[in-house]
Amino acid sequence: MSDCIFCKIVKNEIPCDLVFENEKVSAFLDVRPSAPGHTLVVPKEHHEDLLVTPDILLLESMRVIKKVAKAAMEATSAEGFNLIANTLPAAGQVVFHTHFHIIPRFSNDGLKHWPHKEVLKEEQQKIKDAMNKQLSAQPF
Ligand code: AMP
Ligand code: ZN
Repeated sequence: MSDCIFCKIVKNEIPCDLVFENEKVSAFLDVRPSAPGHTLVVPKEHHEDLLVTPDILLLESMRVIKKVAKAAMEATSAEGFNLIANTLPAAGQVVFHTHFHIIPRFSNDGLKHWPHKEVLKEEQQKIKDAMNKQLSAQPF
């Protein structure tokens, strides 16, 4: 993808603050961090979002995420981290090349948590039905 900023970064066409790379995955600091050590883990091959990314690349990304998250926590003395994949515009995705945010967290760091609402049984059934539809089209 010629106009994709993350493709350009992983091909070293534009600079980044790299913390790790291997053949398939790159990890670099987010240019507008939500917390110190906020790192993006990016499969090098271009796919628009998590849902259309091949499983093998997601597995490799997760292997890297575990190590980079540990390193980011150690480096910043964080007490935890959030792993976030904003997927599609309604969820705030602005760069359409699959990536995962690792955001180091501290107690009382002031970052907002999700709101908690009532669980609806109807949602459970609808999600189960949608899962069954997917699985009958394409089993695991
Ligand atoms: P999103 O698509 O909402 O998950 O967010 C994309 C993230 O990429 C944002 O947090 C940006 O700050 C970050 N970002 C955009 N351009 C760059 C860049 N050149 N280097 C590092 N991070 C970037
Ligand atoms: Zn790309």
